[in-house]
Amino acid sequence: TLAAGVVGFLLALPAGRLRMVHMAAITLAFGLIAQELATDLTALAGKSPLTNLPSAGLGNLTVLGFLVGPLAYFHLVLAVTALTVFLVGGLTRSATGRALAAIGVDEIAAGTLAISPVAMKRLAYALSGALAGLAGALTVHLAGAVSPATLDVSQSISVLVIVLLGGLGSTAGQFLSAGLVTILPELLPALLAYQYPQQLILYGVILALTLLLAPRGIGAWFAAPRFIAPGSLRLAGARRTRAIPPVVGHATNAGLVAGAISLDFGGLTALDKVTLTLQPGRVTALIGPNGSGKSTLINVLTGINVLTGIDVPSEVGKPSSGNARFFGRTITRRPAHSVAALGLRRSFQIPRLVPHFTLRENLLLGAHRHLLRNALYTPFGLQFAIQDEADILSEINALMDFSGLADLADRTIDTLPHGARRLAEIARQLMAHPRALLLDEPSAGLSDSELAVLVRMIHAMKQAGIILMLAEPHLDFVAPLVDDVVVMDQGRVIYRGEVAGMRANAELVAAYHGAAAIPTADA
Ligand code: ADP
Ligand code: MG
Repeated sequence: TLAAGVVGFLLALPAGRLRMVHMAAITLAFGLIAQELATDLTALAGKSPLTNLPSAGLGNLTVLGFLVGPLAYFHLVLAVTALTVFLVGGLTRSATGRALAAIGVDEIAAGTLAISPVAMKRLAYALSGALAGLAGALTVHLAGAVSPATLDVSQSISVLVIVLLGGLGSTAGQFLSAGLVTILPELLPALLAYQYPQQLILYGVILALTLLLAPRGIGAWFAAPRFIAPGSLRLAGARRTRAIPPVVGHATNAGLVAGAISLDFGGLTALDKVTLTLQPGRVTALIGPNGSGKSTLINVLTGINVLTGIDVPSEVGKPSSGNARFFGRTITRRPAHSVAALGLRRSFQIPRLVPHFTLRENLLLGAHRHLLRNALYTPFGLQFAIQDEADILSEINALMDFSGLADLADRTIDTLPHGARRLAEIARQLMAHPRALLLDEPSAGLSDSELAVLVRMIHAMKQAGIILMLAEPHLDFVAPLVDDVVVMDQGRVIYRGEVAGMRANAELVAAYHGAAAIPTADA
């Protein structure tokens, strides 16, 4: 089990740098290579080294001095399966499980929550390898021998068919699916006996029917899995603690300092020597028309590669030139998850939450970093881990009250209106206790009541000492809230200073394309 886990981890070193179909392809290729290698080495050696092993089927397997017959072995396998299901369930409902689900949906958004997609994929491969190794060991001691032919690529295909038919994330669906795929061929006439190539035809039929009749697998017939340990939920109950605690330990005044940041998109200069300083407890508005580079600047500052959108160490969101420091540490060469870990957080112009998570689960994901110390223990349901999570859930209760989201706590994100998603994304980053928060068009698409909530949240964040930057096309809604203004046009900063100073500046008015007026501070 351990050896297979290590092999899984090693495989993730190359595979974990890829995504989607590329990752699947390299994984399948590894299976084919391993199979070929085993076949050739066995041929070279003359016979398989894995023959005449103690076997429950042959009646010569002893465990701790007890003879284990077929029925006892069946019970053993059943017990191991039950334990595995218990632990995998616990893992799903832990910080680790939520992080795995989050990178499955959106690696970029996960990165901005301080979750490293590369590290999570390594963990996933190591765990999957270990489980496959465990299953292999159990298989070998049932049969007493194993040859490369027993575990050929059709085994991988059958597991894939089981997973797709069962539906991702559903334990009940997977059990039913595994049962069906295993038993079905036994029930069919000999013509469809469970062997090559009939087996592949059968798999094809199962897959086609699945896609037609139950695209999300038969797991969709059962209740969707949840991602919070029931114990922590119960313990937290309706308890509420402080929603937005004050930021501790601001050492210096200059929180985020960006110096002459430039970025070219093959000919187009999206950012042209942008310089700016953001200070704790001050709210800065980043104003500029569409396409002026606001989102690009936030991407560069938060380590997202604007060209490819891929967050891997070799391709972090590097500017073409210039650099940025966050409380003295250079952030322009860091991947998104590492920037987020420093406490520099952001929201997206179009909210990027985990759609099949509830609102509460999404907020819990925001606190990922605070729960990591328990990552090893939560799957076992240990009390202190549960206690820790309950504390964070109490804070979530308070924050949901504060941001008017309490009624939506247990609704999945894909059922929520746009405004609620936007507020939820900001609340999710607040759960990380950030030192700075860069919001990309936070007011876009909000109703009047939602705008009022946003204003309340911004006041509270400022009060807590969080560095705030609000990127908005217009000053109107933010004018009464902000201390400083940075105006951008075509990638250049054309004004930096207080709101009042904007009126006198003719170039500014031009950047607004004749927009009637730049609001005064008390407008
Ligand atoms: P804003 O957020 O202020 O509306 P953006 O930062 O989204 O502006 O865009 C700034 C400029 O960079 C625009 O001209 C846009 O077309 C361009 N741009 C943004 N992302 C990319 C990209 N991935 N590839 C090429 N050009 C881009
Ligand atoms: Mg934008």
